[in-house]
Amino acid sequence: MSIFPHSQVPTVEVFSVDDVSPAAVAAVESVYEETFGIPVTRRGALGELDRDRDDDPPRASAYLRTLAGASDADFAFAVTDRPLRLYGGDEVNGMFHDGEGVAVVTIDQLVDGDEFDADARVAFERLVRQFAGGLFGFQSHEDCVMASTEADRGLADIPDDFCDDCAKRLRGEDTAPEPDEWHVTTKELEEFETAMRWADGDIRLTEYPLIALGIAYNTVEDIGARLPSIGSRALPRSVRASIHKTYRSVRFVVNAVLFLVLAGATFVLLLDGYGALTGSEASTAVAFGGLVVAVVLGIVEHAIVTGIVGGLFQGFAEGAREGLGAEE
Ligand SMILES: [Zn+2]
Repeated sequence: MSIFPHSQVPTVEVFSVDDVSPAAVAAVESVYEETFGIPVTRRGALGELDRDRDDDPPRASAYLRTLAGASDADFAFAVTDRPLRLYGGDEVNGMFHDGEGVAVVTIDQLVDGDEFDADARVAFERLVRQFAGGLFGFQSHEDCVMASTEADRGLADIPDDFCDDCAKRLRGEDTAPEPDEWHVTTKELEEFETAMRWADGDIRLTEYPLIALGIAYNTVEDIGARLPSIGSRALPRSVRASIHKTYRSVRFVVNAVLFLVLAGATFVLLLDGYGALTGSEASTAVAFGGLVVAVVLGIVEHAIVTGIVGGLFQGFAEGAREGLGAEE
């Protein structure tokens, strides 16, 4: 049975390219069946590629174009054992087109000349799960199978499955994918809607301090987001690792300061409120109780600020980047 709360499920087709291991094609089927409860139709070999030039190996985009023409299903995958290249010439494990619902994945880098064994299959299933998530509209984010594998991290270093938030959204009445787009209402989408409301000047009074703190928090996040691209080719792995470590310590300090500021401000407000209500100074016992409450509220506030606002401004940045990319 499907994991979706609605009666409809998307149709999925899988094509093989050349003589790719049937076990790799079967891996796509088992990911869709086991992770999402969606049956997959096996379509056999993908026909001749619709290339715009004679590159060898063919560009990943040629597979996507061919798939879009060959399949009427909601989602279509092509599985190959040949290298896949982007326009820039970079080799990738796969590529997908969200709007067309098509994806091509290769086992080339995972098998590296060997058999498609059990280890390769586990990594490959992770890749397929990530791409299936991408087709559902999930953006890449940490602590999830959607985590980016760029920079100094490979498929072996990301989680096997979706995070709690993604899993919940796939099954939620209001967020699960529905036809025709089959897009999940992601956190990014909700944050984008908040961003649009803010852009229209519809900001709630309580949101102003969040915006200020969000800018401070996101500046640090932004630095982190840029790190993988800074000399990802020029710098040796050990140097990149140490940059990441430094970044993580900076982020920790900012998180700690942010928490102290929030808990401190809450504490002051609580004591003020007590004074205003009772007309007397708080006793030591009352102050201590206020401190405990402030710490708990500080944790909640911190989660709200880092979760909503951090993500919101990141959403802004990514939206702008994607917008520019689409115009190019
Ligand atoms: Zn997730």
